[in-house]
Amino acid sequence: MTRICPPADTLSALVDDALPPDVRDALLAHSAACPHCAAQLAELRALHDAFQDLPPMPVGADLGARVIARLHAEPAPPRARWLEVLVGLFKPVLAWRGAFVPLVGTTGALGLGVLLGGMLLTEEPAMPGRSPNVTLAAMSLFDPVPPGNLCPRADACGTTGNSR
Ligand SMILES: [Zn+2]
Repeated sequence: MTRICPPADTLSALVDDALPPDVRDALLAHSAACPHCAAQLAELRALHDAFQDLPPMPVGADLGARVIARLHAEPAPPRARWLEVLVGLFKPVLAWRGAFVPLVGTTGALGLGVLLGGMLLTEEPAMPGRSPNVTLAAMSLFDPVPPGNLCPRADACGTTGNSR
């Protein structure tokens, strides 16, 4: 007899008669001498018998029959003829779609550059409280000495010592 009590799932396997004969005999010998395991084994046997007394319950849906029925179902209807012609027309172009990636990137970069450049050149409508020439003030960021920076020479900037 082993002195260590077996886990509950081993006792449950014993009740279900799912253990090899040598393990089953060792467990039966242990539970004959161990009151704790004997009580647990009696409880598991009572539960097993209660489950055995339940009437069989049929499952509502037969999943296997459904899957087999779908497998034997008719295939999907063929695509429309005009769609095949359209796909055939673009198939050579779609085969080279990887070549269009640099073209799309270049076009996007050029378009963005033109858009941003155009935003710098447009004249904004006069607004109250703003200087009328905001665009020129914004363009002063690209001067040799941007606003707020120190003058490299004394005569490079205005009389104030600032670039503006
Ligand atoms: Zn025990």
